[in-house]
Amino acid sequence: MKVRSDIVVIGGGLAGITAAMRAASLGREVTVIRKAYGATAVGCGAFDVLGTHGGDLLHSAFDLRKGAQYAPPHDLFRLITRRPAHPYALFVEQDEGSEKAVWKSFRPRFDVAASFILDRLAKAGYELEGSAEAITPHPTAMGTLRWTNFAPVSIHRGNVNGWRKGGVVFVGIDGVDTFDTAFASRSLSALLAEQGSADAGSFDARTVTLPWGRKQGGMTPAEVARELDDPERRESFVAAVESELAGQDADHLVMAPVLGIDSHAETLHLLEKRTGARVCEPIIPAPHAIHGLRLQKALDRALESAGVRLVQAHVAGFDAAGSVIRMLRGEGDDGPFEAEARRFVLATGRFFGGGLVSQNGMRETVFNLPIYHGGRPVRERPPFALLRERYWSRQPAFEAGLRAGRDLRPVDGTGRVAYANLHAAGSILGGFDLAADGTGQGVDALTGYEAGSLAAKDVQA
Ligand SMILES: Cc1cc2nc3c(=O)[nH]c(=O)nc-3n(C[C@H](O)[C@H](O)[C@H](O)COP(=O)(O)OP(=O)(O)OC[C@H]3O[C@@H](n4cnc5c(N)ncnc54)[C@H](O)[C@@H]3O)c2cc1C
Repeated sequence: MKVRSDIVVIGGGLAGITAAMRAASLGREVTVIRKAYGATAVGCGAFDVLGTHGGDLLHSAFDLRKGAQYAPPHDLFRLITRRPAHPYALFVEQDEGSEKAVWKSFRPRFDVAASFILDRLAKAGYELEGSAEAITPHPTAMGTLRWTNFAPVSIHRGNVNGWRKGGVVFVGIDGVDTFDTAFASRSLSALLAEQGSADAGSFDARTVTLPWGRKQGGMTPAEVARELDDPERRESFVAAVESELAGQDADHLVMAPVLGIDSHAETLHLLEKRTGARVCEPIIPAPHAIHGLRLQKALDRALESAGVRLVQAHVAGFDAAGSVIRMLRGEGDDGPFEAEARRFVLATGRFFGGGLVSQNGMRETVFNLPIYHGGRPVRERPPFALLRERYWSRQPAFEAGLRAGRDLRPVDGTGRVAYANLHAAGSILGGFDLAADGTGQGVDALTGYEAGSLAAKDVQA
């Protein structure tokens, strides 16, 4: 198989699809090559833009009484001061000096990129709510709180700031053991009681039995969610919830996060209509998260609507003439394939997506580009230099990735642009810890959008 287009994007996660749709929106012919789903498809549902205190989202203690103490100008300034290689540093005018000026230069660029992808996701049936200006607290499946900027509507409806002291019921499903409603409701009510917004033990927990029976040995959330995409099953499930809650004064339901994959919004609205309560799903981390799978499927639908061709293949090699990439080679479903383009975008993710591997040292898998940390290629360092002894320390190994300039062109081991017609986007870029610093999907959206714009502009030139 041979593919020819203006631009080829390698990688079909949040970053690659944003880049591809942006380039297509500028009139370019674009192909995305993807070997499989990556990190995007297992996301927990939190779309983080900016952690507090300079990239410490997961390590910060938040108190509902004080709010999140989230101050974007200060937090962004601190983030890029503490992590100068963070991709956000490429999008701010640092010589402006003050916190406010830095935020003022970043915010409009971020907003344009975020609106671009959020609009397309909403049209594809996956609506996110929130803002880069605020972070809000949502329940998790463990009964803790997770603060984030944007979240799909089903999570955002669970902003606990709006809860009254009682009236909250956690609803689990018999046979789905990943959401222990008794444990989650007790933990969360105790946590909120400590912070003055609930009475300990005041949340109720119920379990619903699937009316059509269940598989022996239990079911995964994804299996139940697939069943709830079926309108008849959805209807009978909602009736079962309604009957379980009969006589209960519930104004918030925290439902097991299994309401459907392609049509969870329908289940949510039907539940709200029939129970009269506000319904939400908790945030749930991989491997059981369905939120990421929904996001990935909505991205795929949006990509199709944008007229971008998606090829399932593993890119394993390339041909270049000097510093210009001519062609990619790989293995597709129908055998060997080749892809020619004038510009390429590398959005292959990190270890989860397959963009980086760690075998005899860390390396990038398609172009063998050097991986950087702290301004230096990591191959110059012994592997243990990238790990810190303390479990909760910042781990350099999780912040290492490609280094690129403001034009998002990755550099070689000497710091020069590696290939004139290659841009990089998303988590393949280094300088941030995508799981811990509270900027993960924000980086993907911003760098994906910018890489798509730059590649499209180059094709025109
Ligand atoms: C454990 C974990 C927790 C996280 N938690 C959060 C969070 O709470 N909040 C948040 O905002 N962000 C979070 N993130 C970050 C966020 O999920 C990632 O930044 C994002 O999903 C990465 O998107 P991506 O497009 O860069 O990569 P991916 O989604 O990984 O996509 C990479 C793509 O490249 C393809 N690919 C790779 N190599 C090849 C090849 N040779 N040929 C063809 N295709 C190839 C893969 O198949 C895949 O399609 C987390 C990430 C992880 C890993």
